[in-house]
Amino acid sequence: MYELRGLNEECGLFGIWGHPEASELTYMALHSLQHRGQEGAGIVATGGDYLFGARGMGLLTEALSQSQLESLRPFSKSIGHVRYATSDSSALSNVQPFLFKSHIGDLGLAHNGNIVNALQIRRALEDDGAIFQTTSDSEVFAHLLRRAKGPSRKARIKTTLQQLKGAFAFVILHEDAMTVALDDHGVRPLMLGMLDGAYCVASETCAFTAIGAEYIRDLEPGELITISDDGIDFDRYTAFENPSMCSMEYIYFARADSEFRGTSTYTIRKALGEELAKEMDIKADIVIGVPDSSLAAAKGFSDESGIPGEQGLLKNRYVGRTFIASGQEARERAVRMKLSPVRDIVEGKSIIVIDDSIVRGTTSKFIVKALKEAGAREVHMGVSSPPLKNPCYYGIDVSTHAEIIASSKSNEEVREEIGADSLTYLSVERMHQVYERFGSRGQCDACFTGNYPIENTDGLLPQEKDAKTKGV
Ligand code: SF4
Repeated sequence: MYELRGLNEECGLFGIWGHPEASELTYMALHSLQHRGQEGAGIVATGGDYLFGARGMGLLTEALSQSQLESLRPFSKSIGHVRYATSDSSALSNVQPFLFKSHIGDLGLAHNGNIVNALQIRRALEDDGAIFQTTSDSEVFAHLLRRAKGPSRKARIKTTLQQLKGAFAFVILHEDAMTVALDDHGVRPLMLGMLDGAYCVASETCAFTAIGAEYIRDLEPGELITISDDGIDFDRYTAFENPSMCSMEYIYFARADSEFRGTSTYTIRKALGEELAKEMDIKADIVIGVPDSSLAAAKGFSDESGIPGEQGLLKNRYVGRTFIASGQEARERAVRMKLSPVRDIVEGKSIIVIDDSIVRGTTSKFIVKALKEAGAREVHMGVSSPPLKNPCYYGIDVSTHAEIIASSKSNEEVREEIGADSLTYLSVERMHQVYERFGSRGQCDACFTGNYPIENTDGLLPQEKDAKTKGV
């Protein structure tokens, strides 16, 4: 339901070094990361000489043709990217990995996140004569790297990374090495794995599962890894670190089977549901989850409360993106096409509906209405995250303040707007307790609390920055 909520992940990354089926494996891995971005996809690969790339718009299966994949098949080193784009930046030129050519070597670049001082850097570089090919904030990395001074490429990459602020997981391909870097707050996830002796990296471990790779560990904030034919080199680009991984990765974005520090997202979501049950003192006949991302939390809620869990809402998996248009009316139509109640399960019952988040309120409002039309006696809404009140500057399109329902309305006003008999959110404290229980070293919770861990130097949302970049 990514498009319906105004809550969209920006990207998914994968890279593998030294495997005879590198580009095919990259394609398979990207397929498993499709939930992180559906607007464009690409692969850049090399056999050790030049870099070659293919990219296109849409879902992976639409973006890359069979002949493009065939042309990349001979290469043993490969990186790939799937992206979500804000409406202003959906041009093919913004689809990654970017491929830069220069006489000192080619560079393939895949980025997940948002660089919050990219506009400032870009303006300075443009004033110095640089001409950008895209409106993407990721391109500043290539320009800075080309200008960086230092005794080695690794030293120049460190210098470049030290100039960037914000959220960035980078997978960078050169002819002779693959470099992987995570920002010093570790906002976006990045995992290290291995397949048949070849190191690989991915935004989520579900990509490793898809190709049969072993998950080794999560990258640490500030970490810089270089993988080449000589082996793997672990380093850091900065001594500073302030772990602030995105809480929304656990709550909503990551696939339920993906693991963080060895625990599946499913288990974490289930625990969030258990904690919500401790805070929501409501008696009801059944608990139902909004499919798919809230089913784990609903299970946890049911286990903790003793209220039987049922599948009272079904999701139509075949609603094409064609039907997902902007505008409130279109969104309501889209929700109606996507979710339907199971009448004989809900009829005459008092129901607790568990959803993982409320952004605009469109989905919740429809769910309450549809369940009541199907005969539900009472509909109580339980949200397995705190009220979402603020936009995100670190690579998630959470929409603007004006579109976020809880940003200007009290809980009671939101309850009234969505038509529920009661509305209970998980508290920020309990959410963090769950994360700490599963080994988190620190989480960003800015969209709930407004406590942004990284100053937004450009002072703009990604979509606003996009317009400024284009001089609009
Ligand atoms: S503001 Fe919210 S969505 Fe953005 S990184 Fe922080 S927790 Fe994630």
